[in-house]
This record gives sequence, structure tokens and C-alpha cells, in this order.
Amino acid sequence: MPFKKEAYDSLQQELIKSNTTLVAVSKMKPIEDLLEGYQYGVRDFGENYVQELVDKYEALPKDIRWHFIGHLQSNKVKYIAPFVHLIHGVDSEKLLVEINKQGEKNNRIINCLLQVHIASEETKFGFGEAELSLLIEKFFQHKQSNNDRLLKHIHIMGLMGMGSLTDNPQIIDNEFKSLKRIFDTCQSIESENFSLTKLSMGMSGDYKIAISNGSNMIRIGSMLFGERTYPSK
Ligand SMILES: *Cc1c(COP(=O)(O)O)cnc(C)c1O
Repeated sequence: MPFKKEAYDSLQQELIKSNTTLVAVSKMKPIEDLLEGYQYGVRDFGENYVQELVDKYEALPKDIRWHFIGHLQSNKVKYIAPFVHLIHGVDSEKLLVEINKQGEKNNRIINCLLQVHIASEETKFGFGEAELSLLIEKFFQHKQSNNDRLLKHIHIMGLMGMGSLTDNPQIIDNEFKSLKRIFDTCQSIESENFSLTKLSMGMSGDYKIAISNGSNMIRIGSMLFGERTYPSK
């Protein structure tokens, strides 16, 4: 029984109070496991790899909301642009511009979260706080007169961040607090294509800390589908 129903039920129970969205992270898992989750009621799935996401999209029911949570390369946006529900990890201006372009081609508005770098590790992607302010200023706080040409096919719905890989909950707590503070600050900014309502933070190991710090979207993989085995390189 690959999809862990008890874990799903108890997570849902925990989340009801806080109105938090549960994204079931199914990367590296076979279609059958996802289908089992689907049949149990899961509609939000998260994937990290473009080709895998496209294959699963084609094989599975069309009312699934697909979240892209991995690191997205600009040249691959075109493959997921027709159907993706939310891109969590927008971490560069180049990517933002490309998503907008593909949104226009597909005649739709693509929902995105801006990824913020909060972990101490250098390997985690995302904007630094100062960089984020500059980006928002450039694209989303523009004067009315510029409104026409800027990123009409994007909707920034929130922020996403990943805590450090550490056993020390205090470190993660601090990182999540800092992301929440940035989120609150940016919430005062609103324009047609920018309004922050979603804060995507928390995974299997740290979702409780995330929720206590105001997360309203958690990305849960191994708790729901079991540990992943990565093919050896
Ligand atoms: C894999 C992954 C998750 C899920 O991780 P688990 O620890 O299995 O819950 C969440 N977010 C991102 C960005 C991931 O890459």
C-alpha cells in the first residue's frame, strides 16, 4: 500500500484548523501510487522534474492541480506552461520573463510563487531579501503608465522557501520566521498581477514548525508516499 492513507487523514485533520493546502509531493513515484492518492481524494500533486511531470499529466485525470516545486530551467517552461497550476520556485528574472512569454503563447495566466533563499546552505535556490525587493519594484510596483507591457500572463500569488537540512529545529524555526516576516512586508504591495496570499513552506520533516510560523501551503512527500530511492549516478 504505497499511498499512506492514515498519514493523509491525520495531516488533513491537522490542517483543517489553519486552512492550509496540502501538496502531495510524488516525485520519483510511479503513476500507480499517484492514482491511489487520487482515488483517495488528493487533487494537488507536486513534482520536481519537467519530463516526469509531463508524463504524469498525460497519464492521469485532468482535474489534478499540478504544482511544479523543483528548480525550473527557462528552456523547459514551454513543456509545462499549457497545464501547470502553480510554479513554486521562481528564482530569477529570466525565468519570470520566460514564464510570462509562455503564458502568453498559451493564452493563460500562470500562477507563480517567488522563491526566497532562507537556508544557510548555498545550494538552495532563491532570491535574497534585497534582490526580492528590487525585483518586485521593477515588475510589480510599476507606475500605471507602464502597466501595459509588464508580465500580463503571470500572477504572483505568494512566496516559497525551504529550510536548512538540519536536525536543529531552532535553526529552521528562525528561517521560517524570517520568511514569514518578508511575506508580511510584501503583502502590502498589490497590483493586478501581484497579491501575496500563499506561503509555501514546510516538508515532511518540518511542516509543524512551518505551520506554527504561518505557512498555509505545505509540500509533503515521504510522509505520504514513503521514502524515495534515487537511482545511483
Ligand atoms: C522533495 C521535496 C519536498 C517533499 O519532501 P519530503 O521531505 O519528502 O516531504 C518538498 N519540497 C520540495 C521543494 C521538494 O523538492
